[in-house]
Amino acid sequence: MKIVFATHNTNKFNEVKKLLPSNFTLLSLADINCLEDIPETADTIEGNAIQKADFVTKKYDFACFSDDTGLLVNALNGEPGIYSARYAGEQKNAADNMDKLLSNLSGSVDRSAQFKTAIALNIDGEQHIFKGIVEGEITTDKRGEKGFGYDPIFIPKGYQQTFAELPIDIKNKIGHRGKAVQQLVQYLKTKH
Ligand code: IMP
Repeated sequence: MKIVFATHNTNKFNEVKKLLPSNFTLLSLADINCLEDIPETADTIEGNAIQKADFVTKKYDFACFSDDTGLLVNALNGEPGIYSARYAGEQKNAADNMDKLLSNLSGSVDRSAQFKTAIALNIDGEQHIFKGIVEGEITTDKRGEKGFGYDPIFIPKGYQQTFAELPIDIKNKIGHRGKAVQQLVQYLKTKH
């Protein structure tokens, strides 16, 4: 069965492709000729994942899944949340985003935060949502070279190193997106 992963991120695409059951052919947005910007204007992480998957299924008539992720910092009332990618501006620069977050949190004793991923799947006329959360703490400075986004300033609970210092296989196992993807894959294994 053909299924679309509604993302422009080739790293994510290739990672998920390796995990899918062999009866699924994973298509990219380019494969279905969807070259336009998909709107992402909902006010929740789940809402954005649903909006992107629905856009593809309605317009292109494919089974589809889409993911959306945010970093929610408790002392900042859940910021940056749905604004994680463009927290410091439309240039979507990871270093600027981290600097802004560290500055907004300076002096805060409570540094607890969570990464949250939602995956929306449209298949056989049904919609399924899979969620993955990892709890942790925001550091006071950036540490590590691996990963991307806010990884250098996030230490998952039970560890001493940031996601940018930990091996990638540990991040994939305990991390937000990994947990949501594992549920998606388990569900797809029950299909067809
Ligand atoms: P997206 O929904 O996956 O595009 O993620 C939105 C923003 O959250 C990204 O631009 C990153 O800044 C951040 N983000 C998403 N996933 C991760 C992650 O695994 N580690 C660190 N930052 C992430």
